[in-house]
Amino acid sequence: MERVTVALPGRSYDVVVGRGVVAGAATVLPDLGAARRAFVVADRAVADLWFGPLAGALEAAGVRAVSLAVPSGEEAKTLQGYGTLLHQLATQEAHRDDVVVALGGGSTGDLAGFVAATYMRGIGFLQVPTTLTGQVDAAIGGKTGVNLPEGKNLVGAFYQPIAVLCDIDALATLGDRDYRSGLAEVAKYGLTLDLELLDLLERDPGVVLARDPAALEPIVVRCVAAKAAIVAADEQDHGRRVVLNYGHTLGHALERLDAFDGRSHGEAIAIGMVFAARLAEARGMGPVGLTARTTRLLTSLGLEPEGPVPDVADVLAAFRLDKKFLDGVRFVVLTDVGEPVVVDGVGDDEIAEVLREMGAEG
Ligand code: NAD
Repeated sequence: MERVTVALPGRSYDVVVGRGVVAGAATVLPDLGAARRAFVVADRAVADLWFGPLAGALEAAGVRAVSLAVPSGEEAKTLQGYGTLLHQLATQEAHRDDVVVALGGGSTGDLAGFVAATYMRGIGFLQVPTTLTGQVDAAIGGKTGVNLPEGKNLVGAFYQPIAVLCDIDALATLGDRDYRSGLAEVAKYGLTLDLELLDLLERDPGVVLARDPAALEPIVVRCVAAKAAIVAADEQDHGRRVVLNYGHTLGHALERLDAFDGRSHGEAIAIGMVFAARLAEARGMGPVGLTARTTRLLTSLGLEPEGPVPDVADVLAAFRLDKKFLDGVRFVVLTDVGEPVVVDGVGDDEIAEVLREMGAEG
C-alpha cells in the first residue's frame, strides 16, 4: 500500500493506493472528527459491489454508512441530480459534522464533491474512486461540479477531499470500455509529464490491458504522484494545472456534441490528444512523428483515437462554450513528449484545417 500526499496549505490529504484499501479503510482513514454518519453516494452497480465492504469499514471507525443512490455515469452529473442529493441530505437531517463519500467513478465523484462543497456551505468529503479514471485523475485535486446542457462542468467548485482511497481490486470488475477510457488519462500523464510511464506503456501495453494488479498499482501511484505535484503547485488552475487538460479542449467539445451520451470521457480525450499532436506538428512546435506516436500508443491501449469527428462548424461552436475560451481557443500542445505548453488564441481557420485532416466535414 502506498500513500501520496497532496500538499496544500491547511488542507493536505493523502491518497492511499493498494489492494484491499476499502475493506481496510478503518486503518487508513483520517480522523473523521465528530461525524456520526457517512452519506455514501454511489450508483446501483457500484453500490452492489462496494457499499457493503465500505460500510463495514466505516462502522469499524465508528461512523454509520447511509446509502444514497445516483444514476450511473455521466447521467448523474446534472443540476437535477445535484438538487436531489441536497434534498436527501436535508430530509435525513445530515449534520455539518457528517461526511459525504463519493463511491464510484469520476461522474459520481464530481457530483458528490459539489454536493459536499455546498451543503451547509461545505461538509467533510471522502473520495473512494472505483474506476481507473477516478483513481488516476478525477478523485484528486478538488475539482467538483455538474454539466449543463450547454457545456461540460460549467457549474462547480474547488473543494478538496479529506482523503482519497484507491483500491486496485475495484478495477477488476470495471467494464472494458470504462477501463480503456481510464487508460486515456494514464496515457495523458505519460505523454505530458512522466516519460518513464510513457516508456512503460509503450514497451508493454499488453500487461496494462491484462489488468494485473501488481503492474497496475505502480502505474496508478505514478499518475497520482504526477497529479498531486501539479495540484500542490497550482490548486485553482491558474497556471501549471492547465497541462492536465491535454486533449481535453476537443475532448470536452466532443462529449458535449454527443450530448454526454456517446463517447466516454476517455474516448473523447484520446481523439483530443491526437488533435493536439496534429496541431503541434502543423505549427512546427511539436516533433515530427508525434501524431503517429500518439496514435500508436492509444491504439495499443485499446482506444480508437481516429474515431469520427463532427462537422467543423459544430466543433467551433462547442469550443466557444469552453471555460477556457478567450479570444480564440486555448490548447495544451507538446513541444516534445514530457514538454507541455499552453497556446492561446488559436483561430478558427487553423482549427478547421486540423479537423479536416482528421476527417471532419465543412
Ligand atoms: P463514470 O464515473 O462515468 O463511470 C462509468 C461507469 O463505471 C458507471 O457506469 C459505473 O457504474 C461503472 N463503475 C464504476 N466503478 C466500477 C467498478 N469498480 N466495477 C464495475 N463498474 C464500475 O466514468 P469515469 O471515467 O470514472 O469518470 C468520467 C467523469 O469524470 C467525467 O464526467 C469527467 O468529466 C470526470 N473527470 C473529472 C476530473 C476532475 O478533476 N474532477 C478529472 C477527470 C475526469
